[in-house]
Formats: sequence, structure tokens, C-alpha cells
Amino acid sequence: MARIALITGGMGGLGEAICIKMAALGYQVVTTYSPGNTKAEQWLASMKEQGYDFRAYPCDVASFESAQECIAQITREMGPVDVLVNNAGITRDMTFKKMDKVNWDAVIKTNLDSVFNMTKQVCDGMMERGWGRIINISSVNGQKGAFGQTNYSAAKAGMHGFTKALALEVARKGVTVNTISPGYIGTKMVMAIPNEVLESKILPQIPMGRLGKPEEVAGLVAYLASDEAAFLTGANIAINGGQHMH
Ligand code: NDP
Repeated sequence: MARIALITGGMGGLGEAICIKMAALGYQVVTTYSPGNTKAEQWLASMKEQGYDFRAYPCDVASFESAQECIAQITREMGPVDVLVNNAGITRDMTFKKMDKVNWDAVIKTNLDSVFNMTKQVCDGMMERGWGRIINISSVNGQKGAFGQTNYSAAKAGMHGFTKALALEVARKGVTVNTISPGYIGTKMVMAIPNEVLESKILPQIPMGRLGKPEEVAGLVAYLASDEAAFLTGANIAINGGQHMH
């Protein structure tokens, strides 16, 4: 039976590439979308036209109850989740001087609490079955900090603390836990940055002189999810064109 891969935020720039890659490798792919997202049906239909039979469930990853309901439904209707990719995330950038509690909480809840909310629903089952993969999508800005992103950098750095601690706890149960920290990836969001800003401010920071491709991150997710990656756990893998090395 095909393994089930749940990718949160699969309708976003990186998430879609991850869904496509995992489907190509034979996983049964399921994704989530925010309960308010009105474009979910449209996305599913356009994926279907391209030959991808994805399932999608509404879930506010920032809410424990929503995560619980969503994964209970997925388990009932499809089966237990074998690979969880915690990919959903948001930014609410502003300098710390302007940062208010609302924007701090929104980013921490959506990017970091979500990792607890989702992982909590699947981790025990993975351990019982003796196989599982948890892959957390962090960011280069969680590794190096970024101006205007105290909230985002804190949440993304926190994800990796979670990864390392949980990796220790589940290491003997066939479950691996890893973090991926992408640099600038050419998703629609990043491609919307004016070309002159891209050329003068962003690309000079990247030794490879180009943005990453969503498919390159998806390839790394696929590797971490594979049986070949069974000995790799607790790692934070940078994929940033050389922008930040540590
Ligand atoms: P997008 O904005 O394209 O996608 C984000 C996804 O997260 C959307 O599908 C969105 O779903 C979902 N999401 C947001 N809030 C919630 C919520 N409360 N509940 C459920 N789903 C939610 O971003 P990217 O694809 O670019 O980014 C994906 C991940 O990669 C993020 O965690 C981001 O921080 C990280 N990253 C991205 C980089 C880049 O260059 N693009 C670089 C480094 C890290 P919906 O639309 O339904 O709300």
C-alpha cells in the first residue's frame, strides 16, 4: 500500500512542488488549506487536470482542535499518516519597535505551535507502526536572523529545537525528524519582488547568483522521506545557494 504523505499548506508555492514530487514517487498525497481559503476546489481541479489526484482538508494549523479534527478525518478516510511535512507558514514582517502582540502571536502560532499541533496527532501512531518521517520547513532566517523578522526568526529557530528534541525521543522507533532551512526560493511570493530589488539587494547575497527552485526543496523533502534516509535524524539541512553556511 502506498505511504500517505501529509503536506500542510500544499497549495502554496513550496507546498505544491512538494505535493507533486511526492505524488510522482507514488505516495498518496494529502494536503491542508486554511478554512477560509476559497480557492481550494479550484486548485484541486487544476491539479486533477495535470493528472494529480490530491486530497485536501480544511485545517487551521495554528489551532490544536482544528489539527486534531483534520487528522482524525484523514485517518478515518485515508489511513494513518506516514510522512508529515510541516510546511504551512506565514510572515508578518515589521521592526521590533513596531511589532505588536497580534503579529507576534500570529507568526508563532502558525509557524511553531502548528508543528506541535500537527505532529502530536501522528507521532504515536508512527512509533507504534515502527516507521515515520517528520519534516519541518524552517528558513535561513531562522538560522541567521533577519531584519524585521523577530517573530518569524524566533518561530523558525524554535522549529529546529523541536526537531532535535523529538528526534532523540523517537530515534529507536523508526521515526526520523528533520528540519529543512530554505533560502530565497522562486515562489510566486518571491517572484513578485520588483526585479531591480531582486537584482540589487537579494541576488548579491546568494553566491550562486540565483533563486532556488521549489522543485529543489521538494527533492530534499523526498529524500528525507525515503527509506534511504533512515539514518538521518535531528538535522537542519540548509538549501540556500551558499547564502548562509554554518
Ligand atoms: P505560501 O505563502 O505560498 O504558502 C503558505 C501556505 O501555508 C499556504 O498554502 C497557506 O494556506 C498555508 N497556511 C498559512 N497559514 C495557515 C493556517 N493557519 N492553517 C493552515 N494553513 C496555513 O508560502 P511558501 O510556499 O513560499 O512557503 C512555505 C513554507 O516555506 C513556509 O513555512 C515558509 O516560511 C517557508 N519558506 C519559504 C521560503 C521562500 O522563499 N518561499 C524561504 C524559506 C522558508 P492558505 O493559502 O490556504 O492559507
